[in-house]
Amino acid sequence: MIGDFAPKIVELTDDILFGDVWERKELDPRDRSLITVANLITSDNTKQLGFHLNKAKENGRMLNIMSNIQDKVVMITGASSGIGEATAKELSSKSAKLVLAARREDRLKKLQEEIQNNGGQAIYKVTDVTSHEQMEELAEYALKEFGKIDVLINNAGVMPHSFLYKKKIDDWNKMIDVNIKGVLYGIAAVLPSMRERKEGHIINVSSVAGHVVGAGSTVYAGTKFAVRAISEGLRKEEYGNDIRTTIISPGAVHTELTNSITDMDLKPGIDEIYKGAIEADSIARAIAFAIEQPSDVAVNEMIIRPTQQER
Ligand code: NDP
Repeated sequence: MIGDFAPKIVELTDDILFGDVWERKELDPRDRSLITVANLITSDNTKQLGFHLNKAKENGRMLNIMSNIQDKVVMITGASSGIGEATAKELSSKSAKLVLAARREDRLKKLQEEIQNNGGQAIYKVTDVTSHEQMEELAEYALKEFGKIDVLINNAGVMPHSFLYKKKIDDWNKMIDVNIKGVLYGIAAVLPSMRERKEGHIINVSSVAGHVVGAGSTVYAGTKFAVRAISEGLRKEEYGNDIRTTIISPGAVHTELTNSITDMDLKPGIDEIYKGAIEADSIARAIAFAIEQPSDVAVNEMIIRPTQQER
């Protein structure tokens, strides 16, 4: 049983568009054989739940299951490590075409090669998100290579936490430039073509710190609150153009993010919190979930914490 329904065989028709996120192996409750169960969505947007996929195939009706991620052109900033890298891999496994951006070329090249070796498609461009010009060039490159941008994931971010009295002004400016201006420049770079096509999806990575402020995370939290405010404003301005927006707010995730903390009064407390951190692919799956919903469904906001994280 899957939830409150058993997998069933549904007549396959040309109407069936794509399989949902949770296509997976289950035991058939009738004979305990291993079957593939999928959620399918039809062209009139109704769901065929618990579709017994391999029985249908055995019955001679082949179905080319297409995910709503397949062939989407997805531009990811901060793709050289952590959440961005994990998201690139997750989306590539669902046949997205990827445009990878960050400053470290060696990492981008390695990721591109890995994706290509697994049969995926990816291009990359060394990009500093704090440069409006470089972000415009990134979008132009994506449009030149792939002809469209379906999804932008504004993921690049830095988190050099410190107490205000320490006056780490350079760190404040860096967070404002990367976490806020980078997101705005990303939006600016993709909006014209998305508005023209009346289609698109902008996913901004905020944080639990975009909901809750802690001592020492003041400036970082300020930037992440700003990401949520910008995302909500974007939603209100562009919903009429069928542009979807999603805010992703992770809790503690194992990445390189905490490496930038230089305030040694704070570091031990942060390290303690990160002992319970989850892996970046958990966030990647949440992002994939938002993208693969039908185009009339906008998953506007998600918070993903480690189960054991209180704050
Ligand atoms: P990482 O440090 O692993 O990744 C950060 C990415 O941002 C890197 O790819 C880095 O690439 C890129 N980046 C930083 N500065 C710039 C810049 N100026 N231009 C272009 N790219 C840049 O950390 P995460 O994967 O954890 O971070 C991803 C996002 O998730 C961030 O927005 C972060 O705030 C958010 N987040 C993370 C949490 C966590 O616990 N890990 C919790 C909540 C939110 P490069 O250095 O090559 O340019």
